[in-house]
Amino acid sequence: MRYRCWWRWRRASIRLQPWGGPGSIHVRASLADQTGPAASTTLAIALGANLPGPVGSPLATLIAVRPLLEARVLEWHESLPPPGEAVTLRWSPLFETQPVGGPPGQPNYLNAVVLVDGPSPPHTTAAEALLEQLQGLEQHFGRERHERWAPRSLDLDLLWWGDLRCQTPRLQLPHPLWRERDFVLAPLAALEANLGAALGGVALGQAALGPGGTAMALTGRAGWP
Ligand code: ATP
Ligand code: CA
Ligand code: CA
Repeated sequence: MRYRCWWRWRRASIRLQPWGGPGSIHVRASLADQTGPAASTTLAIALGANLPGPVGSPLATLIAVRPLLEARVLEWHESLPPPGEAVTLRWSPLFETQPVGGPPGQPNYLNAVVLVDGPSPPHTTAAEALLEQLQGLEQHFGRERHERWAPRSLDLDLLWWGDLRCQTPRLQLPHPLWRERDFVLAPLAALEANLGAALGGVALGQAALGPGGTAMALTGRAGWP
């Protein structure tokens, strides 16, 4: 069977801005500026945890995984031919969020997003190699898979990598649900970055932030400034 994977060089921008009143965001992509290889290759990874793992609480897990994830992303990138420029990582604050889907009564989550700027041009094989690294870290921090969206000690999802579009048994890019999840949108909004990795005509639902919302930013702390 053949699977469809493709990517398009396209320069685009995602702008995070207040939309629909206080405590909500809307993200729009401008596709007006479509050009060649200057297009963004930014990659995004979402982190989540709501069960204790081998190193302790979800907070302890996320603080512990952060430098390991950073190291694995850098090693992964160095292994990609041809040698590219160095990548930089931008970490969102931590957010406490309410569970979405899955069994009732599970604990709140801690979530964050990290953006990786400047990796090589998107490539399916490389994306799958990175997913393997992410899954290795999940294992390391005690991830067990039971029913869908069950509580977990660590979840690491690849959200997108530039314009790479991929549909294989192991990997879907962009992640099919990222636009609909407050626990992804809130950390992205907090970064307030020019994400530069639009994935098509992005028109997102509203993500409630702040009081009355479903995602609450935590203050910075040791290990997660
Ligand atoms: P969701 O994908 O809706 O966030 P989940 O994170 O709970 O749900 P998992 O049990 O962690 O789902 O993963 C199920 C499978 O999803 C994994 O085995 C992995 O191969 C696959 N997968 C497909 N696309 C992606 C992606 N973009 N990022 C991470 N895993 C992915
Ligand atoms: Ca997930
Ligand atoms: Ca996952």
